[in-house]
Amino acid sequence: MGKTIQCPECHEEFDKKTLKENFQVCPNCSYHFRLNTADRIKLICDENTFVEIDGDLESINPLELDGYEEKLKQHKDKSNLKDAVVTGKSKINGENVYLGIMSFDFMGGSMGALVGEKITKTMIDGALNDTPVIIFSASGGARMQEGIFSLMQMAKTSAAVALMNKCKVPLFIVLTHPTTGGVSASFAMLGDVILSEPKALIGFAGPRVIQGTIGEKLPDGFQTAEFQKDHGFVDAIIERKDLKKTLSYLIKTHKVN
Ligand SMILES: [Zn+2]
Repeated sequence: MGKTIQCPECHEEFDKKTLKENFQVCPNCSYHFRLNTADRIKLICDENTFVEIDGDLESINPLELDGYEEKLKQHKDKSNLKDAVVTGKSKINGENVYLGIMSFDFMGGSMGALVGEKITKTMIDGALNDTPVIIFSASGGARMQEGIFSLMQMAKTSAAVALMNKCKVPLFIVLTHPTTGGVSASFAMLGDVILSEPKALIGFAGPRVIQGTIGEKLPDGFQTAEFQKDHGFVDAIIERKDLKKTLSYLIKTHKVN
């Protein structure tokens, strides 16, 4: 018997291979497990068209914080990633796109200076080359270890979105579980179209913090993608199996020329 994984939603058990072949979606109830970056590329991009950009860049330790460099090394070894975002150029059903794919597996998808820089560069590349940009977000927020350098990425990425608007190049955001903190408070909510995977947690601060601050009980389903869609923050909830064709449709229907 191979290793089995239990679906947290319907409690059915599946072997790892079955889930992998189904892009980490439960075959029984379509619960979406987390999808790694390599499989995300396989799901979205035309075969062998993804070319990574700035794949050799790595985070530095701008505040010279004790233990941060060791922590970065641990996460690199564990996740097989250099940091919390992979960016590049690719094709989706024959159309050119620039892509940014965040990973929660690397330090909780936190946005330090490197993540902000790579996302900003991707948007500038898209704007200057008249090519749509798609960002898959997944983040616990700012990277505490980089202090103010981390927080300023919110302003920097937002300015890059403004450049895209000026150049009339579309930005499509796909929110994945979870997208919170400084990422949800900046570029992830500034897309021309904002999609989300089902049942993703989308919010700024955690529910307990908010409840404690306002002293009120929060409504059911608070901060789910479905709740955000009902309240106008998300345009559509798209299951993984429909993601490529939806993005392809959006690219084709948002062409200016
Ligand atoms: Zn299930």
